[in-house]
Amino acid sequence: MVFVCLLFASCVCFSAETIQLTDSTSEVPIKKKHIAVFDDPKDRLRIEDIVDNRHALFTPSPQDVLNFGHTASSIWVHFSVSDVTNNTNNRYWILESSFPLLARFDVFIFANGEKAEQFSLGYNLPMDERQLQHRFFAQPISIAPNTQYDIYINVKRAHGSVQIPLKLSRPVTFIYNELSSNHVFGIFFGIMIAMAVYNLFLLFSVGSRAYFYYITYILTSLLTFQSLTGYGYLFLWNNTPAINEYITQIAATMAGMSGLLFVRHFIALDQYYKHVNKVIDVMVGVGAILILVKLFTDYFLSLHVSAYINVLSIGVPIVVFMCWRKGSRPAGFFLLAWFTLIIGIILYTLNLLGLVPSNVITTNAVLIGAAAEMLLLSLGLADRINTERKAKYLALEEQHKAVVLLKDAEDRLMHRALHTRTTGLPNRTFLRGTLDNRLIEKPETPFCLILVTLNNFHEFNKTLGHSNGDAILYILTERMKLLAESITDVLAIEQSETGTHYTASVEGVTFALLMENTKETVVSEVVHQLLIDMEKPFEYQNLTLNVDVSAGTAIYPQHGENSENLLRNAQIALEAASSINQKSAIYSGEIDPYNARRISLLGELRNAIENDTLQLYFQPQISLSNGRVSGAEVLIRWIHPEYGFIAPDEFIPLAERTGVIHPLTYWICRKAFEFKHSLAQQGYDISLSINISARNLQDPHFTDQVYNIAQETNTSLSKVIMEITETAVMDDPDDAMRVMNDLNQLGIRLSIDDFGTGYSSLSYLKRLPVNEIKIDRSFVMEMANSNDDQVIVRTTLTMGHNLSLDVVAEGIEDASTLEKLKEMGCDLAQGYHIARPMPADDFFTWLADYEATLARSEDLKGIAKG
Ligand code: C2E
Ligand code: CA
Ligand code: CA
Repeated sequence: MVFVCLLFASCVCFSAETIQLTDSTSEVPIKKKHIAVFDDPKDRLRIEDIVDNRHALFTPSPQDVLNFGHTASSIWVHFSVSDVTNNTNNRYWILESSFPLLARFDVFIFANGEKAEQFSLGYNLPMDERQLQHRFFAQPISIAPNTQYDIYINVKRAHGSVQIPLKLSRPVTFIYNELSSNHVFGIFFGIMIAMAVYNLFLLFSVGSRAYFYYITYILTSLLTFQSLTGYGYLFLWNNTPAINEYITQIAATMAGMSGLLFVRHFIALDQYYKHVNKVIDVMVGVGAILILVKLFTDYFLSLHVSAYINVLSIGVPIVVFMCWRKGSRPAGFFLLAWFTLIIGIILYTLNLLGLVPSNVITTNAVLIGAAAEMLLLSLGLADRINTERKAKYLALEEQHKAVVLLKDAEDRLMHRALHTRTTGLPNRTFLRGTLDNRLIEKPETPFCLILVTLNNFHEFNKTLGHSNGDAILYILTERMKLLAESITDVLAIEQSETGTHYTASVEGVTFALLMENTKETVVSEVVHQLLIDMEKPFEYQNLTLNVDVSAGTAIYPQHGENSENLLRNAQIALEAASSINQKSAIYSGEIDPYNARRISLLGELRNAIENDTLQLYFQPQISLSNGRVSGAEVLIRWIHPEYGFIAPDEFIPLAERTGVIHPLTYWICRKAFEFKHSLAQQGYDISLSINISARNLQDPHFTDQVYNIAQETNTSLSKVIMEITETAVMDDPDDAMRVMNDLNQLGIRLSIDDFGTGYSSLSYLKRLPVNEIKIDRSFVMEMANSNDDQVIVRTTLTMGHNLSLDVVAEGIEDASTLEKLKEMGCDLAQGYHIARPMPADDFFTWLADYEATLARSEDLKGIAKG
């Protein structure tokens, strides 16, 4: 029934033009007017059915170049040819169809209604079965003059687009065309291979993944082109025809995927659109699935593959364009490259439509565009790597500068820790180091330590002011240095690249020197002469000034076997000399006025602990980011019934030496925890910092005891901080590390106290379980006057923050220092300017006042803003 209808419908209107071959015809593109087509979706009809019902079945061609899109139908094409010359001989013509991706391409030739010839050319057949081994379908046919030839072509492809661009040409023309297109393709493929090799070298030398993706993109594009143009079939897989579909689809998908990965890397997409990155992951995944399906099943995916490639061709340029708008330079290169390809495609299409003249450029526009695209992308890639290298180099330079700066600051810090600021002489810590070294290296060799102090120096300060005081100290220091140098047997205290120091400064205006001669008469004589020379009047700003000097000496080994005792005993001798107006003294047991007081103090300290007569004071710490009270440092106070206030600096060392420090620290912890508990009850969740001595770190029960005290006082350890000095840690690093780790496990935070005064290395600090550093108050107090100290504070802050530590500044005595520290990004602040240490009751009052003031000022701010 359908058949009959078709028969009528087509009979009425259809009559195609016969192609007339003359002497001058060299080639004829077979066009719409010549062609009739018939679509057999079920692939049921054979040539006999077709010939018999030709007029009923065929309809006029809708296009000049036959393109049926994606179809699985069996397509029949008919056209007629006639040689209208007066020749008597047959002539050969080449019938060609330049779309090589057809599984079936059967040609049937009828001469004057009689079947003359039949050829089968589809790519499902091996190449060597063809008469003409060509990348397209090209078949020589012999045409006799004045004969009507009916040519039927039947094509089919299982899946994928079907195009049948037909042409008839003379063999010479055919060969000429073939040669010129081989040239063009040769150049094109050559460029692509050269690009791939060039980028391969870059891949090896630069190692960027972008190159890998790009090479894959080039090679898979190359393979796709090879298969689309038929060259692959001709040269690479000519005897395994079935592979063609696989190669085309897999190569095209891989080109899409690698292009995608390349673009993402190339334009640094993650810097611009993080979420789009995810979309790309999905698209790459889809590509991978397509490839797997193709590899392991027989499904034909050409429709999916072209959809995939189409989505990419639209989506990628949009994303790249957006990145370009946001300032990606490689995106610009990409767009330019893409643009050349698009121009190529447009030109090619215009040429097909006959809107631009056909020439080498227009017929090969797609190839030229693609080659230009690859070239531009290569350039872009090189440009990007270059820019990246420059950036890397700059970053490296910056890093190097930072390292140098840090090293410089560390050196300064070290120097500052070991020298006095005003005179630059090695300080007490340095002297102790020198003594300790000497005692290790030459334990048998005696020597003496002489301390010389300027008794009336404070009067210069008082009468002439501090800056003149500093200048006078400088003059006297220079004098002392010269005199020390001139002493025979004097020992060097510091030897460095910048010079040798024979003098140290152990306290404000007390100098120290070492001498190898220990004969008391000689020592006395030397000291005597030294004092006379030191006391010679000197000129300062037209004034003649007199200085009063005294000296104290301790001899190794009889007056002390270690540096600490030697220094202490030389100090006692010095004080004894001043008090008995003797100018100078050598240490002896009888003149030690501290012995008696110390022994009695020690006993009393034990009692004071047992009787709870010691007191804890609390000094607040505030957070500089929001002004709130973050915690308090716990400081011990001892008001002695007879001696009055005794500074912790006096009795803590005593307690450390005798072991009383253990019960003392436990007492302090207990009281502090109780205080923390009552703070919590009143709703103050702030931290308490407790000072721990080096001896505590050597106590094997320390952690357990602290834990027990916390249990007994019902206190959480979460906001307890323990402060330990650098030197305490360095005394016995292994033990310290173990105890610190244990404390950390309990939730106690650890702080390095007096940071900057010891000489622990930063790299060591990194290995400790430390949460905080406290810049020593000497740096903070001098910050306003000393640029050096400011640099040290600043670098300590940077370093601390680099190690993710909180940094506390203590010893803040004025508003400007507080402001400066805030500006520098310091975390926590403590000092007399905020509040002095105070007893528990006062602390509560202070806290309530402070919070109220803060709340008021926040309210005011809120009102101002609102
Ligand atoms: P530290 O741990 O460096 O404590 C800080 C000291 O600086 C305290 O002196 C504090 O009163 C003082 N200070 C705070 N702000 C300022 C300020 O703005 N300017 C000045 N000039 N000083 C300020 P304190 O209480 O005399 O303690 C001296 C040292 O005694 C402490 O130094 C610490 O090493 C030791 N110490 C104090 N209490 C304890 C304790 O409970 N246990 C142990 N083991 N040692 C303690
Ligand atoms: Ca402290
Ligand atoms: Ca401190």
